[in-house]
Amino acid sequence: MIRDPEHEKMPRKQLEELQLKRLQAKVKEVYEKVPFYRRAFKEKGVTPDDIKTLADLKKLPFTSKLDFRDNYPYGLMAVPLEKVVRIHSSSGTTGKPIVAPYTAADVDMWAEVMARSLASAGMTKHDVMQNAYGYGLFTGGLGFHYGCERLGATVIPTGAGNTKRQIILLQDLGTTVITCTPTYAFILNETAKEMGVDLRETKLRLGICGAEPWSEQMRKDMEEKLHISAINIYGLTEVIGPGVSVECEHKNGMHIWEDHFLVEIIDPGTGEPLPYGKEGELVITTLTKEAQPVIRFRTRDITNLSVEPCKCGRTMVKMARITGRSDDMLVVRGVNVFPSQIESVLLEVEGVEPHYLIVIDRRDVFSAEDLEIWIEVSEEVFSDEMQKMERLEKKLRAEMDSVLGISARIKLVEPRTIVRTEGKAKRVVDRKELPNSGLITK
Ligand code: ADP
Ligand code: ZN
Repeated sequence: MIRDPEHEKMPRKQLEELQLKRLQAKVKEVYEKVPFYRRAFKEKGVTPDDIKTLADLKKLPFTSKLDFRDNYPYGLMAVPLEKVVRIHSSSGTTGKPIVAPYTAADVDMWAEVMARSLASAGMTKHDVMQNAYGYGLFTGGLGFHYGCERLGATVIPTGAGNTKRQIILLQDLGTTVITCTPTYAFILNETAKEMGVDLRETKLRLGICGAEPWSEQMRKDMEEKLHISAINIYGLTEVIGPGVSVECEHKNGMHIWEDHFLVEIIDPGTGEPLPYGKEGELVITTLTKEAQPVIRFRTRDITNLSVEPCKCGRTMVKMARITGRSDDMLVVRGVNVFPSQIESVLLEVEGVEPHYLIVIDRRDVFSAEDLEIWIEVSEEVFSDEMQKMERLEKKLRAEMDSVLGISARIKLVEPRTIVRTEGKAKRVVDRKELPNSGLITK
């Protein structure tokens, strides 16, 4: 369903006019109110008056996570603290967390883009949404919560964790929509199975998943195991939280709410803007946010944009599934390795579960890194004879070699050796840190 046709289906020309008007106002505002931006603009020799068309965006300086850290906690704010009604923080997947303040208008805009997103995913006010994203500082919980209430559907604020209780509530309360990380959707299914519950027999019909990378194969797997339609949603704390973009029923790219978020794709090496269709790093400028607007924020997420008309009627560009974070990327013996590549192999080979750890080891500074992949085998295979395990290992090694382009050691481990995380999964660990990482059970 299209919640806000006026914006979601706005003709591109009109949309671009709206974006330019909003961009000009926002640029002027940060220039006047945030010393960090004024300095950065001056260093690049630009002033707000130089922004005459959308293409002039590229004259502006980038911002990065580092700028957030350097200006921690309130240095990037464009309003006095008394106008701030809420503060969130990023999950800190890749380092020190950053803070995100919101004015009342920001909270309202966020609820609106989230309500739009849930509607686009196929939710209506008749749905009962069990929200298993973490509540608290993480933006997932409250973002979905406010969006659901705004839409007029029913929210059950379970948060992440307490999985057995979640399964009981899900059955008792007639949950129709589950919102959680893809990792957690699989945990829910595993736990349900242990409890003798088949999620396919519940009222669950829709899953809205995001906050971490996942693949098309994982979607298929999830849809089959849980008997739901699974929708991809994207967002990040620096920009607003979840609700920057989401798929429609056609599931081939996430529509970006461009009346609020202006996007570009750049070459992560040179910083040069790339045309539609080319893969690169996503850069976002917020057009309406008040408390902490961001100009050309480098997300480090790798994707590509498509402006092809969508069958749903929305005119907003679509971004492809994130193939990885540029900072997730491992360089092993000079070769780029993305965890998503490993995942794609695991989802295709029978007998293993998509639970894995990438263990990096470097014996000393002179030797090349060793890449070892710990993979959980399924219950059935594990109880089988040795030979079968060896065959499986060989097969996985061959597949990994061909997908990654370098050889990796494969270590098959017992079911449940790798600890399940309730939020975002952590996949990469240093050999030396492995025993104390909390990522393995023994
Ligand atoms: P952190 O950077 O600490 O993880 P956030 O909670 O703000 O903090 O996470 C935002 C990041 O999560 C995004 O930049 C992106 O890398 C990832 N992410 C969010 N949604 C998705 C999605 N649907 N697919 C892939 N990655 C996603
Ligand atoms: Zn669409």
